[in-house]
Parts: sequence; structure tokens; C-alpha cells
Amino acid sequence: MINFENTYSMLPEEFYQKAEPAEFPKSTLLAFNYELADELGMDASSKSEEDLAKIFSGQEILPGSEPLAMAYAGHQFGHFVPQLGDGRALLLGETKGFDIQLKGAGRTYFSRGGDGKSALGPVIREYILSEAMHKLKVPTTRALAAVLTNEPVYRQEPEPGGIFTRVASSHLRVGTFQFFASRQDHKSLKTLMDYAIKKHYPKAKTPIDFLIEVAKAQGELTSTWISLGFIHGVMNTDNSSIAGITIDYGPCAFMDEYQSQKVFSSIDRNGRYAFMNQGPITQWNILRLAECLIPLIDSDEDKAVSMIEEALKFLPGFIEERIEEKLSLKLGLPKPDRILNHLFLSYLEENKLDFTLSFRNLPKLFNGDTTGYPDTDKFQNFISAWKPIANISELHNINPLYIPRNHQVQRVIDDVYSGNFDSFHQMNKVLQNPFEVNSELDHFKTPPTEQEKVRETFCGT
Ligand code: AMP
Ligand code: MG
Repeated sequence: MINFENTYSMLPEEFYQKAEPAEFPKSTLLAFNYELADELGMDASSKSEEDLAKIFSGQEILPGSEPLAMAYAGHQFGHFVPQLGDGRALLLGETKGFDIQLKGAGRTYFSRGGDGKSALGPVIREYILSEAMHKLKVPTTRALAAVLTNEPVYRQEPEPGGIFTRVASSHLRVGTFQFFASRQDHKSLKTLMDYAIKKHYPKAKTPIDFLIEVAKAQGELTSTWISLGFIHGVMNTDNSSIAGITIDYGPCAFMDEYQSQKVFSSIDRNGRYAFMNQGPITQWNILRLAECLIPLIDSDEDKAVSMIEEALKFLPGFIEERIEEKLSLKLGLPKPDRILNHLFLSYLEENKLDFTLSFRNLPKLFNGDTTGYPDTDKFQNFISAWKPIANISELHNINPLYIPRNHQVQRVIDDVYSGNFDSFHQMNKVLQNPFEVNSELDHFKTPPTEQEKVRETFCGT
């Protein structure tokens, strides 16, 4: 069913540990992404749901699959951990250049104290959010399957268990480089960089070229998050993708009311990963990658450092510019306009307005419909500067109507936990076309009431 063409398992043994899925004899299929399977050239429609549940819970290992857990390190909230690795994930193999990975299929060499399993809640969250991100045109890992294990996992209390199948152009992280750099294993570092260049940035000729390409890809990604009100929540270097894709849907969230320093994650006590801090944190993460590359850049460390400084000079300005460009596009402005962007955002913030709907409804202002926009001096200032220059004709393709709002994700999880799968499928459906009005499922556009607000999000562990 899957034509595996594995490259990661060909790398030296330091890069991974072989792994085997645990037994899940009672697993059943919750969701399968036939569209994605098709893109990957998988012949899934010939398989029964029972077969798919077996394959995507690791109970049937397909020919060519070489399950393994990848090694990586990482800075978690600024503190370096020399060995993390796939503790609850295993790579089944690669097809058409994409990794097929199970999350929650049991313990690996890297599991430390954990059980290697996943509760169903995080599986549902990642399924909904990662597919929504893809449809919102954000580079991301994707969701191929969600399986119910029909066995409890033990967190604060017993919860139903699940297994998620993640598809990614790669799972290489800044933390993968840190794993070898911290061991001063320069040979493996070089092997890893060559592998990453070949896979993602074939035009890069030198380590510096490679660094610049990763920096651009990540800067671009972060600016896209900001343009959608997305807060990743745990931008540790082990969750910072070399391919520049969104990875790790733990405590992430889309904002409802706009707040420039919004934090959701229960573990982000100091707001390190607050909404508007995501640009500076991207730079911080790229600097950690740069440090790893020093021995590959030049044997003279001082020279390597000054080359890095020179190469990354562009980055702060680049991220800022891309954010401003994207915000101005959302306003329908003919060119980036920092002042108008900030005027609008500060109006949203002062009046606690919904980020997504306030952009989406902008065209209505042209018809004099100001519902949802309190009439303040700032609003009048904005309108008088914006209206004469804005072009609203394309805005419905730029500003989504539906986003995976936290309170709705939470409601879906509650429904599934009580045995009702309808809202899960409905939510996936409406988010397939986030820019198009869906009159049957239109309630998914509605922001939370005071009681419905989700104030904190949690990691899936
Ligand atoms: P994350 O919070 O998903 O970025 O994971 C951070 C680290 O904890 C990674 O090394 C994971 O593999 C590991 N980890 C997370 N959950 C579990 C679990 N249930 N069992 C074992 N390891 C885990
Ligand atoms: Mg992670």
C-alpha cells in the first residue's frame, strides 16, 4: 500500500534507534485523510477501515517499513537538554519524500520516564489543527490518520488513548543539529547538514547558504503565523523545523480577541512564546542553529562567527518586513504600511475585538455596515486613512472566516470522549474551506462566550 523509499534509516547509527510499536489489539479508525493518501500515492481505498486501523496503530508493519525513533536534543524554554529524541513517536518510513510517523505507538529508546503513548485529546487537536493550517496555506506537518486504541492512558486521570499519523517533509529540527554539536561529533554534523541540504535546500553550496535558507524559511513561517493570529506556544529548538514547517501542535492556539502579548500555554509562565515574541524567538532559534554550524563554516572560530553575523544581519528586518507585508495584504493595502497596520491592531487590542472576524468583515465597512466595530476616534482615524486606498476585492481569499478556535476544539474533544464523533467530522469539514461561507456549519465562525473561553492550553504529554 505504501511504497517506502527510506533515506533516514540509511544514515549512520548515531542518528536513530530502531523501535517497535507496542501492541494495540483493539484499535479502531477514527479518521483517515484519503486526499492526503492520494497525494502520497497510497492505495488506501482498497483497504478496509480495520486494515487501516491496524497499519496506523503499528499492528501491521508494511513491507519496506523500518520503524525508528530519531535522535535530537533541544533548548526547552531556554534550557539545553542534550538528549530528547522521539520518545512517543516512531518513523515508519518515507514515501515520495515525506516521513510517515506514528505518534503515541509506545515506548522507544528515548522515552525516559514516559509511556510513549498519547491521549486521544491531543490526537484530535493535532488532526484538526494541522489540516486546518494546511488549508490556510501555512507550511505544516499533516494528518494522515487518527486511531482509537480503546485502551486508557494514565495522565492526571485515565483518558482514552489514541495514535496519530503525522506526515512531514522531514522531522529535522534545530535540535537534531544540537544533538551532534553538543557531542562535538563534527562528522555526523556534516552528514546531517549534507542530508538536509539535499532534501530541502539543494541550491545551498555552503553551510552559510544553508543557514540563510533555513532562516528565511522560518522567518517566512513565523510571519504567516502572525498574519493568522496563531500562537505556537512551544517554540523550543526541538520543535523548530529545518524545513520551515509548523511542527508540534501541543499547546498552540489561534487567538480570538487580539492581544499582542497573548499566551495560552500553561507552561509558558514568563511569556517567552507570547504572540508578538515569535519573531524574536525565531531569531534566537536560528542563532542556536548557527552555533552548531560553526565547525563546518571555518576552522577559525572567530572567522566563522563573523561570517555568521554578516550572514544573519538581514533576519530581524526580514521577519519584520514579512509581518508588515502580510498584515497590509490583509487590509487590502496597495503597499506595506506599518502605520496603518499598527493603527488597526491597536484598535483591535483596545476594544478586545476578534482578530479573525475583524479582518474578515472589513469589506462590509465599504457598505457602511460597521457591526462589530465600536465607533471610537481610532476607528475614525483608521477608516479615513484606509478607505481611500484599500482594495477589498481579494480579501475573502486572504482573510479566513473559519479557524480552529480553541473552545470549539475543546467541545469536539468533549464530544468524542462521550462517544459522539459528529462534531469532529463537521469541524474537519468546515476547515477544509476556511475562506468560503458554509451556511450549514456557519456556527464554527463564532468566537467564544465568556464562559466558553479556553484560557490555558496544555502539552499533550
Ligand atoms: P514535546 O513536548 O512533544 O515537544 O516533547 C518533548 C520530549 O518529550 C520529546 O523528546 C518527546 O519524545 C518526549 N515525550 C513527550 N511525551 C512523551 C510520552 N508520553 N512518552 C515518552 N516521551 C514523551
Ligand atoms: Mg516536540
